[in-house]
Amino acid sequence: MIYRPFGQTGTELSVISFGGMRFPDPKDIDASAELVRYAWSRGINYFDTAPLYCDKRSETIFGHAFKDLPRDSFHVGTKCSSPSGSELRRSLEQSLELLQLDSIDLFYIWYLLDRDDWEKRLNHGAVAAALKAKEEGLIKNLVCSSHMNGDDLADVLATGFFAGVLLGYNAINFPYRQVAVEHAGKQGLGVITMNPLGGGLIPRNPQRFSFLQNQQDESIVSAALRFNIFHPDITSALVGFTSTAEIDEALTAVDTPPDYAAERSRIEAHLHESFDDLCTGCGYCLPCPVDIPIPKFLDSYNQLMLSQGDGKIVTERFRLHWKIDRHLAADCIRCGACEERCTQHLPIIQRLSELAGD
Ligand code: SF4
Ligand code: SF4
Repeated sequence: MIYRPFGQTGTELSVISFGGMRFPDPKDIDASAELVRYAWSRGINYFDTAPLYCDKRSETIFGHAFKDLPRDSFHVGTKCSSPSGSELRRSLEQSLELLQLDSIDLFYIWYLLDRDDWEKRLNHGAVAAALKAKEEGLIKNLVCSSHMNGDDLADVLATGFFAGVLLGYNAINFPYRQVAVEHAGKQGLGVITMNPLGGGLIPRNPQRFSFLQNQQDESIVSAALRFNIFHPDITSALVGFTSTAEIDEALTAVDTPPDYAAERSRIEAHLHESFDDLCTGCGYCLPCPVDIPIPKFLDSYNQLMLSQGDGKIVTERFRLHWKIDRHLAADCIRCGACEERCTQHLPIIQRLSELAGD
């Protein structure tokens, strides 16, 4: 295993970490905890959970697994998305109880959607309550997780409240997230990536993503993880493991250190030359005169294409990930400004029409 410093916190995290949102049978606490301990025995030392994961059982599972492990041999992160300071405090205390710990290593101001959302976390007391808990020693490091675009997130990180950030980063969306990753790196912040496999879309489309593979016999999972973990500014990539076999497969990614700069140029060139029907999330199509968040819609269209038209995946993308009403797409007045600016020359108007009409 390779370990990297999480920013300037003095904490070293394994480059592959365990996301506790996909236990195959969360009701079976013993078997789930056994999977956690297996990951730990393979060198994984960062475990990420949240109160709502796995029907609210994820923290209980980790608490069960951690009972037998030396406290200085693992790090745990959990989260709260409420803007309310009192609610954050209540949630933190419950997390500590379920995890059976005296402190949380990384506590997240969770799921920052946009600038307005960030203002609410400040104005309704969540950030202040988290800083107070840090002073009391209940939180070792305050961090945030976000779906904001790169520039907005860079502004949040510049406030200086956070020791690091958790964000989605993979071969599909990396142009969209690159600004924030590099900004965090320059500021000396830790960066944990989630969704390195594109929500499963990358392994489900091995042909399409074969360009990530460095060697022919490399698995697509390993290649997609390698794309994350050898980025110089990324500390660790979170994977929602469901079996010991998945843990073993993921760990092969750390066996082949590539020439990252050459690798990145090759992948970027591929994206521009032959992967040109996907939205990269770059945001150059904005602003829209009727305020349609075009990159969020086109990201959802990516999901539609890569899942071979699975409407359920798209509905969940709108509802759970972006939290926007897909029918907003019908507001498009077809001015064409976005298509003129689109770096991928995508038929944005047509895609919005398809998404609105579904
Ligand atoms: S064509 Fe539609 S989505 Fe594009 S900028 Fe104009 S109104 Fe917005
Ligand atoms: S629609 Fe085009 S310009 Fe807009 S985010 Fe996607 S790729 Fe970038």
